[in-house]
Parts: sequence; C-alpha cells; structure tokens
Amino acid sequence: MKVRIDYDLCMGDGNCSKVCPEVFAYDDDQMVSRVTQEEVPAQYEDDVRRAAAECAPGAIVVEE
Ligand code: SF4
Repeated sequence: MKVRIDYDLCMGDGNCSKVCPEVFAYDDDQMVSRVTQEEVPAQYEDDVRRAAAECAPGAIVVEE
C-alpha cells in the first residue's frame, strides 16, 4: 500500500498524525501533516485506512 496527501485539499487539522503517527507527522511550521513512510508497513495499513476515512476533505490518497 502507498499513501500520499493532496495538499490542495488538506486543511491541516492533524487528525491523521494522531490516528497513525507512525506514517503521518504533523509539520508545525507549515501547519499540515506529512507522510513519513510512503510505502506503508503492513502493520499500519488499517490505521492508514482509518485516517483516510476520517480525513474530512478526503486529502489522504491510498493506493492499495
Ligand atoms: S487528516 Fe486530512 S486534512 Fe487533516 S492533516 Fe491529515 S491529510 Fe490533512
């Protein structure tokens, strides 16, 4: 699984960084989250799917 963030949509609430801090890190300077592991380790795939489902603007793009 691969994941990225669409910065045209991200509103910077940082929820993904709370749901899966192993894959998303909040960038305090830019006030958006960053993907730290584009290739998602298998043990975090469910958390990444949940983060994507909870992302209100749909900014998390998951490729299964
Ligand atoms: S949950 Fe979505 S809108 Fe919020 S910081 Fe993460 S990618 Fe951006």
